[in-house]
Amino acid sequence: MSEIKIIGPFTQLLTMDTIPLKGSVDDSQLEIIPNGGVVIADGLIVKTGNFDQLCSEFHDFEIYRIEKDMVAMPGMIDPHTHICWAGSRAKDYSLRLAGKSYPEIAQSGGGIGDTVSKTRTASAAELESLLAERATAHLLKGITTIEVKSGYCLNTEGEIKMLEAIRNVNHTLPADLISTCLAAHIKPADFVGSPSDYLNRIVNELLPEILKRKLSRRVDIYIDKGAFTKDEARIYLTSAKNLGFDLAIHGEQFTAGGVSLACELGALSVDHLEVIQNLEINLLATSNVIPVVLPGASLGLGCQFAPARKLLDAGCSLAIGSDWNPGSAPMGDLLMQTAILGIFEKMTMAESLAGITFRAAAALGLTDRGILRNGLLADMIGFPTSDYREILYNQGSLKPSVVWKRGEKVRE
Ligand SMILES: [Zn+2]
Repeated sequence: MSEIKIIGPFTQLLTMDTIPLKGSVDDSQLEIIPNGGVVIADGLIVKTGNFDQLCSEFHDFEIYRIEKDMVAMPGMIDPHTHICWAGSRAKDYSLRLAGKSYPEIAQSGGGIGDTVSKTRTASAAELESLLAERATAHLLKGITTIEVKSGYCLNTEGEIKMLEAIRNVNHTLPADLISTCLAAHIKPADFVGSPSDYLNRIVNELLPEILKRKLSRRVDIYIDKGAFTKDEARIYLTSAKNLGFDLAIHGEQFTAGGVSLACELGALSVDHLEVIQNLEINLLATSNVIPVVLPGASLGLGCQFAPARKLLDAGCSLAIGSDWNPGSAPMGDLLMQTAILGIFEKMTMAESLAGITFRAAAALGLTDRGILRNGLLADMIGFPTSDYREILYNQGSLKPSVVWKRGEKVRE
């Protein structure tokens, strides 16, 4: 017989249940249980409801009593990060602030080439410890599931080193790290051959090795000027899909192409979308592809946000990722970025919170989390407040004071 525990009473329990996967959402659609409790067994939610009622309904349970005002909601899910890297791009940032363009920064020894050389040089242990530090920071801020991409070594040996670091940190930290192969980030400067030759090398050398070592089930590619074309990406992603990988695409950050290909190939998500146009918005609305917007990249580059309001009004789903990376998105604070995006794009609180919970889970193909509902993972966070609206009102400065992963407390 498994041990049952009841956590509560929460001033408000925000379950995120009963909200559709796609389209705009009104705050009145949020399920808020006052004086709420959660029954947990074996890391899974057994039942949510009124705390006193739950206590009278169950027998032989342990109570984890909440003594102060607290609003609980599902643990946040970050569906897009690049937090496995070595080095710093602070110098790039200072040059960007001084008005230098990306090509000028790259020419002066910065840009992604700098991160690639530092990540290639880092030992596996160094890389693991840098990744663990960032993933822990994320977890303590309430992000219980973190997608992490490779893509800063861009050769078979180095990409394996990155994916192994992600696997090892996943085994040692309570947070779930979901790894994605982004060897198709750009063609590395030292590769002799065309972009297609490089992608073929990944398909023939790297992807089979990833499958053999069970390092990832996801493949991502960057479609843009200076990265890969839509046609190059189609061939690559089709091969990856045939090998059994789930697909994600970096698309529509500066130029078009990623969204239509994501819909054509049935990718799980298409991420960025700063320059998406109406035609592609409508295409997404009629597909199962989850759009993931990355306000952290807009903040890091000082450019426009993806049109979140338009996407939602057109009937699209909408997930929000931090894009935490050393170049364009160094902040790494998902809640703060979500709050900032929300005020600029006029997203309701329900839409913003859905974007970092179950809609973000859907972008990763996960159906076992992101909602406080029976049968799902007991990943929860508690904010020290009596009103859920304080979470976004404080624009990210109010952090969870308690984080539970699979029903176990990882922070208080
Ligand atoms: Zn990215």
